[in-house]
Amino acid sequence: MNTMPLYDGYIFDLDGTLYLGEQLIEGADRTVATLRDRGARVMFVTNKPISSRQTYAAKLTELGIPADVEEVLTSPLALADYIAAHHQSPNVLLLGEKPVTEELEAVGCRIVHKAEDAEIVVISWDREVTWERLDEAFQALRGGARFYVTNPDVTCPVESGELSDAGAVVAYMQACSKRDPDHIAGKPYPALAEVAMQRMGVTPQRTLLAGDRLQTDLKCGKNAGCATAVVLTGVSTRADIEALPADEQPDYVLQSVVELV
Ligand SMILES: [Mg+2]
Repeated sequence: MNTMPLYDGYIFDLDGTLYLGEQLIEGADRTVATLRDRGARVMFVTNKPISSRQTYAAKLTELGIPADVEEVLTSPLALADYIAAHHQSPNVLLLGEKPVTEELEAVGCRIVHKAEDAEIVVISWDREVTWERLDEAFQALRGGARFYVTNPDVTCPVESGELSDAGAVVAYMQACSKRDPDHIAGKPYPALAEVAMQRMGVTPQRTLLAGDRLQTDLKCGKNAGCATAVVLTGVSTRADIEALPADEQPDYVLQSVVELV
């Protein structure tokens, strides 16, 4: 039985959708190859801001899904795109790691370290953050700098449990500055999917976003106006999906991405 239509563009979440940790989801490689053979464009997206696009492209390729760097979108890249569209070579005070620095510098941002120099504060996941740097970012926000965020995830799941992520630092900044972010690039916000569609040259009506998380992937797809598929190879169960209100249901529920073809 084949009831799935062919879309022009496919946006794939990574962990839980195409692979689990270091293990390819069985058949995901053939699925992506088949979609490409049929003329569809594909993009691979992730909120995670601590690895570079090169790293993800290499990992996918190694797992049997050949991926070009240009087919990988991370939340730092989506934020850099947004900044490039709204600012000219701004001074940015960043709490984040090297992959974020690289994406920001690639669009002309100058990374600064003092609050008074900052036009923009970018909050990301930074595993070496100190109170001094947290406070410098707070002072910049007090001074009126724009408040941008790569990804809103409060925690990141790992094999041993969870790690605190960028969203936890956002909560800290909200608490002391009494401000909310002006822009958040990562899922569930639509920017990642919008940048993906723009790069594929496809419309939301002709694009499907496939992911395993209801609160991030599914919402991102809906916010961007794409068709949505939730796969059951990651964190969400059929019961979780059935508990959603009618207007939040995905277009497709799939045992795995293999059912896309
Ligand atoms: Mg996932």
